[in-house]
Amino acid sequence: MKSPFRTFLALMLAMVGLTGTAPAAPLKVASLSTVLSDVARQVGGDRVQVEEIVKGGVDPHEFSPSPSDVQTVTEADMVLISGKGMEGYLAKLEQGADAKKFVNVGDRLGNSLKLVEDGKKIEDPHWWHSVANVKKAADLVRDALIAADPTDKDAFTANAAAYQTKLDALDKAIKLKVAELGRDKRKLVTSHDAFQYFARDYGFKIYPIEGVSTAEEPSTRKVAELLGTIKQEKVKAVFFENTQNPKVIEQITKETGARLGGELYADGLGAPGGDAATYEAMMKHNVNTVVDALK
Ligand SMILES: [Zn+2]
Repeated sequence: MKSPFRTFLALMLAMVGLTGTAPAAPLKVASLSTVLSDVARQVGGDRVQVEEIVKGGVDPHEFSPSPSDVQTVTEADMVLISGKGMEGYLAKLEQGADAKKFVNVGDRLGNSLKLVEDGKKIEDPHWWHSVANVKKAADLVRDALIAADPTDKDAFTANAAAYQTKLDALDKAIKLKVAELGRDKRKLVTSHDAFQYFARDYGFKIYPIEGVSTAEEPSTRKVAELLGTIKQEKVKAVFFENTQNPKVIEQITKETGARLGGELYADGLGAPGGDAATYEAMMKHNVNTVVDALK
């Protein structure tokens, strides 16, 4: 038998459900990319809780998930993947997990640049050095969030639109800064081959010291070739990277007279609280460092 109180309670619960006054918990978004962590926070706002598996300042080429990272992925509603081959450990995370919650942003961007590594053509995974790619990534993240949580569609749509405006301003700011540099001076010598998308969008020529991954040591022959090129092309400055050993770059400056242009963020955001803790800050840091050193 139903008591009047029970009927009242059932009615109240139904009303709460109908009017949506009970706030749902934010979506748990695990991220394997520091750039995508930032994008998810920008687009998701307070409707997402971002769990950074790969943290700022960590080399993603060398990263391997710990048992607690696997646990975080298991508990997440969504997993953002940098893609284009960056996460060699992906199979380990996907094993036994719900395939639907994995969003491979890099792979969905398409139009990959190619790199040759160990004689094989591979996809260049450093897509975020193109602001145009991050604009597409923001749309992909927005659509994935809406699919996972349709009730917050309006918030995600508005946040994504606001972020697109910021990214357009960033792209303009980068182009203005690059315009300070003559075309013949747009030459980038860095520790590994990470800036091809940047070079394509903003008109630079790249002289990498290592290949695409950071695991291999440059050969003596490769270094000798590069020394010749730097002298011949009169490259004013060379750059080292936040997650790399600066030894080879220092040797190059000694032997060519090119100066140390500063530190670049090649593989994602810098550590929290630093000068590259957001995507916008990282891109501005990189372009300012490059242009000011090569002028
Ligand atoms: Zn890299």
